[in-house]
Amino acid sequence: MSVLEKISSEEIISLENKYGAHNYHPLPVVLSRGEGVYVWDVEGKKYYDFLSAYSAVNQGHCHPKIIGAMVQQAQTLTLTSRAFYNDKLGVYEEYITKYFGFDKVLPMNTGAEAVETALKLCRKWAYEKKGIHENEAQIIVCDGNFHGRTTTIISFSNDENARKNFGPYTAGFIKIPYDDIEALENVLKSSKNIAGFLVEPIQGEAGVYTPAEDYLAKAKALCEANNVLFIADEVQTGIARTGSILAVCGNCTCENACEKQSTYVAPDILILGKALSGGAYPVSAVLANDHIMNVIKPGQHGSTFGGNPIAGAVAIAALDVVNDENLSQNARRLGKIFREKIGEFVKTSNITTLVRGKGLLNAIVINDTEESDTAWNICMALRDNGLLAKPTHGNIIRFAPPLVMNEEQLLDCISIIINTLKQFEK
Ligand SMILES: *Cc1c(COP(=O)(O)O)cnc(C)c1O
Repeated sequence: MSVLEKISSEEIISLENKYGAHNYHPLPVVLSRGEGVYVWDVEGKKYYDFLSAYSAVNQGHCHPKIIGAMVQQAQTLTLTSRAFYNDKLGVYEEYITKYFGFDKVLPMNTGAEAVETALKLCRKWAYEKKGIHENEAQIIVCDGNFHGRTTTIISFSNDENARKNFGPYTAGFIKIPYDDIEALENVLKSSKNIAGFLVEPIQGEAGVYTPAEDYLAKAKALCEANNVLFIADEVQTGIARTGSILAVCGNCTCENACEKQSTYVAPDILILGKALSGGAYPVSAVLANDHIMNVIKPGQHGSTFGGNPIAGAVAIAALDVVNDENLSQNARRLGKIFREKIGEFVKTSNITTLVRGKGLLNAIVINDTEESDTAWNICMALRDNGLLAKPTHGNIIRFAPPLVMNEEQLLDCISIIINTLKQFEK
């Protein structure tokens, strides 16, 4: 332990370089501790976390209630596989289905696995309920999508980095522009073999693209009219991030997803991950009603770790925290302040062109090309000034702090961001 304690950031980075696959390009900061909205590097420097592990740590780092539930369950029973029942899964399944207003849940571990599950579920439903001929089902996806990294999912990505030299690709997907109702209408008209429409309510990885106010409701209505499943990938937008429990809840800030709200756009299949565990453990979920979920029978899909007792205990605690601490309301209120203050700066600035987002999922666009390293350099300067964020797509910086942030901390962060951006004014 004494050897490990002395290891420096530089040494750890060189270890990763030498022994780890180079499938990421991290900002050079080595973190060893987290609490709430803060993280500390191995040298003891403290930072605001403005990425929240891509919105997995919405409840804040090492939330005592979530960690408490995890430790207690880890000391009791960790894994049985689904060959046997465990005493947590059913309790968790009742909890999460009531929370999000669905008949059933299929538990998985990562976001990509949950997306895969949703795609398989959609296809099986199409053959067995809708009556599409075998192997002919098509699923509509959007340009600029991010749904994970499996072979099937990257098959319908337009990110060359994610796709190139990983073929042959999985067939059965049609890509249309995002936030384009006419394109959706046309493709639905063009074929009888459409099974589903997979969409992110806000495109996070693409750079926090928020669609037109009525896009999701119109898309859902079109799907319904054509007997096509509306599949919402809320792995990043869900669990209070955008100022409501789900982004499909629209303007409702109550802490449950429900049909009672006129702004609620009910997905036929809902995909959750990331903050479902508050970042403590890989937990993902696919939710649907019986007429869809019941097409999957024993032996047809599964995962050794999916639905394990630690996952169940952690997810219940993580969702409880969202309620107990009013995280949706907080995200909504602080998000407004953030866009207002940063927006004022953007008006007077020539280094940024705009700020956009919803709740505490926001981004600024840097006034430079996608190929430039300006956004990267700004993130390095933010790091030096005590705030961690990462560029997405070259010239866009995403800002997504833990939702347990308070107003005073947010104002502190806003002044760090503005002062840093000022160093880059042209
Ligand atoms: C992160 C993400 C995924 C993939 O989740 P993993 O846990 O990384 O596999 C899928 N969809 C969206 C919208 C995401 O943001």
